[in-house]
Formats: sequence, C-alpha cells, structure tokens
Amino acid sequence: MRSLLIDGEWIEPGERETIEVLDPSTGQSIATIAQATDDDVDLAVQAANRAHADRRWSGLAPIERTRVLTRIADLIEENLEELAVLETRDNGKPIERSRADTAFSAKDFRHFAGAPGRLTGTVVPIDGGAHHVYTVLEPVGVAALILPWNFPIMTAAHKLAPALAAGCTVVVKPAEQTPLTMLRMAELCEQAGLPPGVLNVLTGDGRTGAALVAHPGVAKVSFTGSTEVGRKVMVSAAATTKRLTLELGGKSPNIIFADADLDAATATAMRASFGHSGQMCTAGSRILVQRSILDEMVERLTAATRKVPVGNGLDGGISVGPLVSEEQRGIVLSYIEKGVAEGATVATGGGVPERPGYFVEPTLFTGVTNTMTIAREEIFGPVAGVIAFEDEAEAIAIANDTCFGLAAGVWTKDLSRAHRMASALHAGTVWVNTYNIFDPALSFGGVGDSGLGRDLGDEALHSFCERKGVVIAL
Ligand code: NAD
Repeated sequence: MRSLLIDGEWIEPGERETIEVLDPSTGQSIATIAQATDDDVDLAVQAANRAHADRRWSGLAPIERTRVLTRIADLIEENLEELAVLETRDNGKPIERSRADTAFSAKDFRHFAGAPGRLTGTVVPIDGGAHHVYTVLEPVGVAALILPWNFPIMTAAHKLAPALAAGCTVVVKPAEQTPLTMLRMAELCEQAGLPPGVLNVLTGDGRTGAALVAHPGVAKVSFTGSTEVGRKVMVSAAATTKRLTLELGGKSPNIIFADADLDAATATAMRASFGHSGQMCTAGSRILVQRSILDEMVERLTAATRKVPVGNGLDGGISVGPLVSEEQRGIVLSYIEKGVAEGATVATGGGVPERPGYFVEPTLFTGVTNTMTIAREEIFGPVAGVIAFEDEAEAIAIANDTCFGLAAGVWTKDLSRAHRMASALHAGTVWVNTYNIFDPALSFGGVGDSGLGRDLGDEALHSFCERKGVVIAL
C-alpha cells in the first residue's frame, strides 16, 4: 500500500524493503508497508524544511490554522467508526477502546485548534524606557514525531495537534506494527486543507526513527516508546542539540488504603491493570494494599480478575484482547515465569487461553515484594501484583522505590491523606479515587526514567515553540 507521504505525494513501496502489518487477533497480514530508506528520510525532512521556510503553514493567519485543525477534528469524528475498526484490526485492542481513543484524538485537535491565536508574546520592562523589549513565540521548525504501537492514533494526535497548532511542519513515523490509523489520519489532514509538505509520514522500523533523530534538518523530536530506545534517542539528538520530548515507560503504583471504597477500587484496579491487555505506559501494575484489608482485597481482586473478559477486540465487551505480537507474548510469559521463580504466587491466570492470536490470561500475583522483577520492570501485558504495606509512610516508600515515575493511583476517603500522598508521590500524574483520566488540556508525562517534558496541555504546545526576545533601543 501507499505508506510514504512526502511533500504531498503518496509513494508506493516499489523496490524498497517491505513490512507486513499483522492482525494480532489472527496473526494474518492485513497490509504491506514500505520500510523508508535513508533517502526517503532526507527527502521528507527537506520537504518539511521547505514548507517551514516558505511559511506555508506558520504564515497563515492563526484563525486559518484554527479552521484547518477544527476540520481535522470534524473529519476524525465523521470517520470515527472506520478509524476505530482499523485501529482494532491493526493493534488488537477492544473496539470500545479504539472508539474512545479515536474520539480523544478528535478532542486533541479540537483543543489545540484554539491555540494558534493564543500563542502570544510578552512585553518585558527592562529599564526605564531606553529599550522596547518584547518576546514572541515561534515554531521550533521541523518536528519528528515517533510513535509507539500501544496507542497508535492517540499518540499521533497528542503530538500532531500541538505541533501543528504551534506552526511546525512535521515528519511522523508510526510504529511499524501499527501504522494504519496514522496513514488514514494523514489523508484526513490533506482533506482538511493542510498544505502539502507540512505533514510528511514515513513508515519503517527503528532504523527510520534513528535516521530521523540523527538528521540535522530536524529541530525537535517528540518520542513515545520504551525507556531503552528513549535513551538512545536522547544520545543521538544531543549531537545536533535537538529539542526533545520523551514519553517512556512506567511501573505505576495503585495504592489502596483500608478506608477506600473497595468496590470502586477493585473495579478500577481491573481497568488500571488489565485495560488494553496491560499494554499501557500508565498500567497500575503494582497494586499496593494496606495489610489490614489484604486478605479481603486479594479475594476481591482475584475474583474480579477471573471475570475480566478476554477475546477478539472486535467482538465488543472485551477488556483483554491479544497482545500486539507473538514476540510480546513471549516477553510477558517469561515475566510470569520470573515472578513464580522469585517466589510470588499466581492467584489466577498465568497461562495462555486456547485460541488463535497472541493472548495471555489476565494474571494476578500475590505475595509480591517490591524487589521482585515483576515489581520493578515494565511488563506490558495483563499481569499485576499485589504488594502489602502497613501505613502511609511505607506506602510512599514502596511506591517511590522505582526508577520510573509516570503515574500513581491513591484510594482513600481521607481528604488530608489524599493530598499528602499526591504531594509525596514521584509521578507525572496522581489520580485519587480514579485512574487513567486524561484530557488534552492536562499535560501528561513522567519523571525519572519515565521521560522528559510533557505531551498535552500548554507544556506540549510550548515545547514546539521557541521564545524569541527582541530588544529595540528607543
Ligand atoms: P519502542 O521504543 O520499541 O518503539 C517506539 C518507536 O520508536 C517505534 O516507532 C520504533 O520503530 C521507534 N524506534 C525504535 N528504535 C529506534 C531508534 N533507535 N531511534 C528512533 N526510533 C526508534 O516502544 P514500543 O514497544 O513501540 O512502545 C511501548 C513503550 O512505549 C512502552 O515502554 C510504553 O510504556 C511506552 N509508552 C509510553 C507512553 C507515555 O506517554 N509515557 C505512552 C505509550 C507508550
């Protein structure tokens, strides 16, 4: 299929190496995409630089950019079902999840559509009037947006909407496993009136991503993916002093105190741990339970885990679909083996359901300590572990004893404790009596090994801008 968009032209793979895109619920190929070459990377970056230099996009009146971004949001909504089905076929995630992700993507564009007219400067009084000093926000230039496979359409929108709102031109590289919704979204962006060359898309694996990060014509990289690759991106980006946003992995604690609403905490822990088969950077895979309610909560969580519906994402009503690939399933199963070997107990799950596709049963470990591998490393599968704690101080100590810091959940009816915990937890986002609530207006990202900078919110918008100071002697 046509999977390279360079300077407004869609290009067939031709003689290039190709990649088969598989439906994870059947293992069957559903598309063949090109592996972009280094020449393609160069051409796409050059095209984006030309579009930036001749101000094809940033030179439009802000209200015109608003009009195009709003139209993109409209088109995503008008094509929501098609995009959602494509996302589920590509990634395997439950169709309801894909609909929600697609709706959120439209919301990203609608939110950031309001931004171009708000990118205002300041007047800075530096002396008694000898100088007129002001600042302006300018687009950073060409932004490379590198996407993961777990939230293909949503991470695309999280990055593309603020980048375009800021007036940047972009080269997007979707994950090689899940490129299809980004390709369709690019068509919708064209249909919405985005000028040619402003949005370029390159399919390919890590080699394409690495070539983009190394390219001197790219001014800013916004990357979502694993911590391991994020570090490589950081090193490579340093060679040409690129601006950088990194959204990386996590090992988030979901902390349940004895005074919590245990029904809500149990039901939400299922979503937090097993939603999207646990393939979420924010997965609340360390379930911290206060010791005084440990037995009761283990019973509740085990019973609830047994009821988590597993199946083909297109069937509807499913929480745990297949993992994205056979390789990913192998990784998840080896973590389950490690959990057992290190002394944790499988309360339920641990195996592979008898059906085609890359499934793993929702798996709950009990008797987990925070030193075990399953409590320290991101598993990216439907696997969670219960860790006991005595009191607030121990909960904080365990929760923060991690190299990551993406998110945390706290369950308590004690308002003061909620605020104390929110303040003490090292995390980019803390949810109290809820989990995984996002909004385009709320910046999202991590501390520590979970990343650098923020997606969403004004922080994302400003990360695609440079602030220039202008000093005029009067
Ligand atoms: P990954 O790091 O393997 O790949 C991410 C992207 O980087 C892909 O497009 C890949 O082709 C590309 N890539 C690979 N090697 C590269 C290189 N050397 N240089 C540049 N690009 C390269 O990650 P993944 O397995 O696709 O995604 C899962 C990871 O993403 C998990 O760790 C998850 O926690 C993380 N994630 C984080 C967030 C967040 O917001 N913090 C959101 C979603 C996913």
